[in-house]
Amino acid sequence: MDLESNLKNLRARVKKASEHLGRDPESIDILPVTKHKPPQVIETLQAHGFRRFGENYIQEIQTKAGLLPHAEWVATGHLQTNKALLATRLCSTILSLDSLRLAKSLDRESQSLMKNLIVWIQVDLWEQEPLKGCRRSEVPLLLDFIARAPYLRFGGLMVLPPIGEDKAFRDSDRYRRDMEQTSQTKIPLSMGMSEDFESAIRHGSDQIRIGSALLGPR
Ligand SMILES: *Cc1c(COP(=O)(O)O)cnc(C)c1O
Repeated sequence: MDLESNLKNLRARVKKASEHLGRDPESIDILPVTKHKPPQVIETLQAHGFRRFGENYIQEIQTKAGLLPHAEWVATGHLQTNKALLATRLCSTILSLDSLRLAKSLDRESQSLMKNLIVWIQVDLWEQEPLKGCRRSEVPLLLDFIARAPYLRFGGLMVLPPIGEDKAFRDSDRYRRDMEQTSQTKIPLSMGMSEDFESAIRHGSDQIRIGSALLGPR
């Protein structure tokens, strides 16, 4: 694996996809997803200016956080409520809030630690089997709950659409725009991974989550 050339290549592709639409490439947040990758890889990414790292497993964050005190952790995988305390302690951001039950746990733990936590709602607009996020109908409840939780900050919407469907990216963007209309605020959209980030950018993604295109296969 050659991280330097992967990074160069990734940035060039992000630039091309965004300029194609007249979007500023700098406005697209690249979140490296470092699950199953050793701490040295994260150190190399830090040397290239990355500060935040996506991880799917809280236990893995716990191990790595002990070795990498300056890294900021973003939980990207399904989070069980019994991990809420640990997740709140270790992470700046939860990208995968997918139930009111989890929101209540994160509210309680963020209050007990008096720590701000950025939460993104992961919504499954397609109701995949198994579900990859909350249902559409739960989103208003979650938004309302977050707005009233003293330490939770709404970050945006995260989606994991069916693979290889541009239509799903369009659905996500439309859903986000409708929400923006209703709320009169900007709502960032986290969509796109190694295989499909260019298409995601063309459909309005604000954050792409990149593992293998940067770090090689897991
Ligand atoms: C693993 C993972 C990624 C990165 O996947 P790649 O295809 O390796 O880029 C992005 N988002 C989530 C939620 C993941 O679990």
